[in-house]
Amino acid sequence: MNTKITIAIDGFSSTGKSTLAKQLAKELGYIYVDTGAMYRAVAYFAMQNGLITKENFDKTALIATLPSIQLSFQFNESLGYAEMFLNQKNVENEIRTIAVSNFVSKVAEVSEVRSKLVEQQQEMGKNKGIVMDGRDIGTVVFPEAELKIFMTASAETRAQRRFDELKEKGDEVSYEAVLHNVMERDHIDTHREDSPLVIAEDAIEIDNSYLNKKEQFDIVFDLVQDAIKAV
Ligand code: C5P
Repeated sequence: MNTKITIAIDGFSSTGKSTLAKQLAKELGYIYVDTGAMYRAVAYFAMQNGLITKENFDKTALIATLPSIQLSFQFNESLGYAEMFLNQKNVENEIRTIAVSNFVSKVAEVSEVRSKLVEQQQEMGKNKGIVMDGRDIGTVVFPEAELKIFMTASAETRAQRRFDELKEKGDEVSYEAVLHNVMERDHIDTHREDSPLVIAEDAIEIDNSYLNKKEQFDIVFDLVQDAIKAV
């Protein structure tokens, strides 16, 4: 198990990618990177600076301000994973709200945003030993990854999971609003011009609608061991 590989986990919103990625990283002693958090942090920055509202999205201004957006992850020992920092401020809670979810896919369509974040992601993974989750990891960020997983589940299952999570955090939101957001993000993410969400040719698809976390982990961990042996 000393050979380090790159594990790319892509898939639709709320398919439990980050739960699986965190479990794998912990078990393998790998770095875990949640690329959705990076797009969310840029969306949050755009919202805070009035660059995106329901009525308007000033892409030119966002592109012009991109050099001043600094993103970093800092490992939190007690949580066991890295939290997202935007210009040195911990924004882990701020970026998980439904308000950010409603804008993030529009921000993630902008090619200049994507190329900035992809460059940073490739740098983080250059020594392998990494589990990265997102939408374009197996296709764009690490097309050479030794293991690519593509996760799916029905929109209703995913919305229910996200709704339960948000409610537990005290976010006042209806199931219908969450379902609408999940379906809207699926649509934008799969239809955008730059790096749309598609299954990489060599990815293994896992529909976890009827799998619990342990069952899912066991299936994928077997795949990881096979991938390491094959190197
Ligand atoms: O993974 P999460 O749901 O937090 O991602 C939020 C949004 O960020 C996605 O709906 C997608 O629009 C965008 N994203 C992306 N490429 C990635 C990761 C996330 O476009 N690699």
